Amino acid sequence: MGRLAELMKGYHGIEVKEDRERLLMDDLHAIMDVNKTMNLTRILSEEGGIVLHLEDSLTGLPYIGDAPEGLYADLGTGGGFPGIPLCIMTGRKTLLVDSVKKKVAALDGVAGNLGLGDLIDVYAGRIEDLAKERKGQFSVLTARALSSLPSLMELASPLLKKGGRLICYKAQPTGEEIENALGIQEIVGLRLECDQTFRLSDDSTRRIFVFEKTGAPRIKLPRRIGLAQKDPLR
Ligand code: SAM
Repeated sequence: MGRLAELMKGYHGIEVKEDRERLLMDDLHAIMDVNKTMNLTRILSEEGGIVLHLEDSLTGLPYIGDAPEGLYADLGTGGGFPGIPLCIMTGRKTLLVDSVKKKVAALDGVAGNLGLGDLIDVYAGRIEDLAKERKGQFSVLTARALSSLPSLMELASPLLKKGGRLICYKAQPTGEEIENALGIQEIVGLRLECDQTFRLSDDSTRRIFVFEKTGAPRIKLPRRIGLAQKDPLR
């Protein structure tokens, strides 16, 4: 058993099989290699990458497992986290979404080299534009280090089908952020299903919020480009 599999079992009770671990480590190494010429991550050591990228990404695994079957998209994927690790573990059809074209092109190359070309597609553009093109098509969405909870809920809602899940990875959300998120649930047609606090193996605290799409938003979404992040609903 390698270091990642040990951490996942010991700290999170999640089993990572040998072939999956190899692929996850290949992903991390490929991203770190691309990072030499393009800014995908500020985490430069392998140990940092194992904990802060792979272990952190995989903490969302039980929640994606509980979501209805169907398409998965990682919003604001950056260096492909948590999107590529969750795809490797679940085998779901995955769309990696980011507005920075060169990042998305690099991820496309990494996915192909890992033999995941059939499972992973990429979208180079804004989440708001994707929402116009692929309304209600996704069963599960993730977002890590992208925006505040209310912004994420607004961006995600039009993309989700009824019963679909939004999984938000947060480090330290403020009380006001959580209060605002709870206050807009009915407006965006989402309901908090789970709020879980836990620790990574480096003792840092993380929190995962899972929202279920319960019905159509009460307002027209997406709003104008940028508004969800600049002027979130409250
Ligand atoms: N999820 C990755 C992680 O946790 O390592 C990357 C996080 S990075 C801080 C946020 C990413 O979201 C950036 O790559 C940025 O280009 C992208 N992004 C921000 N707003 C976006 C939007 N409205 N549509 C698409 N991508 C967006």
